[in-house]
Amino acid sequence: MAILSPVTFTQWVLIVAAVMGLVCAVKDGAEFDENEEDVDAGADDNKVENRGAGVWPLRGAFGDVSSVAVHPNGELFLLHRGPNAWLATTFNESNVYQEFERGPIEADVLIGVSPNTGEELHRWGRNRFYLPHGLTIDADGNFWITDVALHQVFKVDPVSLELTLTLGEAGVPGSDKNHFCKPTDVAVTSTGDFFVSDGYCNSRIMKFDSKGNYLLEFGRPSDPSTIPAPADGLNIPHSLALIPKYDLICVANREDEKIQCFTAGLQGDVSAGQMVQQIAHPALSRVFAIDYSVPLNKLYAVNGVGFSLEDKPMSIFSIDLASNAISSWNPAEDGVDMVAPHDIALSPNGQYIFVADMAPQPTIWKFDNSDYDPRKE
Ligand code: ZN
Repeated sequence: MAILSPVTFTQWVLIVAAVMGLVCAVKDGAEFDENEEDVDAGADDNKVENRGAGVWPLRGAFGDVSSVAVHPNGELFLLHRGPNAWLATTFNESNVYQEFERGPIEADVLIGVSPNTGEELHRWGRNRFYLPHGLTIDADGNFWITDVALHQVFKVDPVSLELTLTLGEAGVPGSDKNHFCKPTDVAVTSTGDFFVSDGYCNSRIMKFDSKGNYLLEFGRPSDPSTIPAPADGLNIPHSLALIPKYDLICVANREDEKIQCFTAGLQGDVSAGQMVQQIAHPALSRVFAIDYSVPLNKLYAVNGVGFSLEDKPMSIFSIDLASNAISSWNPAEDGVDMVAPHDIALSPNGQYIFVADMAPQPTIWKFDNSDYDPRKE
């Protein structure tokens, strides 16, 4: 047993600070549960600030938050990096992670919270990951996590919390069938086959069967000098969304500032990887993440920090796939300060939109979705 729970420790720090007459600037940064025994400790460190109309920021006991996903039962999960951050010196020129000697993240990187109150419900994944990036939860509740430092993809059983699949070679980047290079995301079909977007340094989407056997891949590096751009050109495929209704796997092609949708081969009669549809809009700019709402039959996207003086506002996009019509909403106009949005997820019925705002103040935003109409449920 640990001597002090994190809450007790926090209280103790505040008492000491008060006694010493210190003015403590309490920052909504990360505080980490280093308690080895009490895995639920630290729950009170997550703070939801209600802003009415279903809007909240959740901040507290987590570091740079790279991903957010919703379990089929409605619970919200976030993936974070504890004290680690991706800096200019984090990788060498060969994409090899330079900080393995510091050891893995000691904190649990996967945190489950109530989608209503933000109260912490679960945590897992300590002493295993270095720079977790993508989180996906499939229809059976399995967790899929990518780690760009390890260049690996993991499947975690929701009951045993054991790894049931590990793909890639730890710490070794590559571009063959058995290696990834900073893989970003996973999308899982109803049969358990899955796609991996690979990634920051490869320009491909790979498909595997449910046992992890390589099936195929598609995509190639974008070449800005090639006009028109190749339909399957990719420059940091950063996020994936499956659209079973149309047999599509859509890709947030971040640096090319567009979304491309390819055949997913779900029916077996169409091979995966044929370009079907491209979604590009000037407002989209660097599109970081996408998610598909089955009940609303819409694709949602969030863009992120731009590189130019003409940065577009950070917005949430709702895309009608039948018409390609895009509507956008800029939360800043409603007083919400998203700084570095990195991932997006819809609640199971589409009523709420969650955004992982990575840094410097790691935040999960929750928004009412104006597309949602309870009369249509
Ligand atoms: Zn990223």
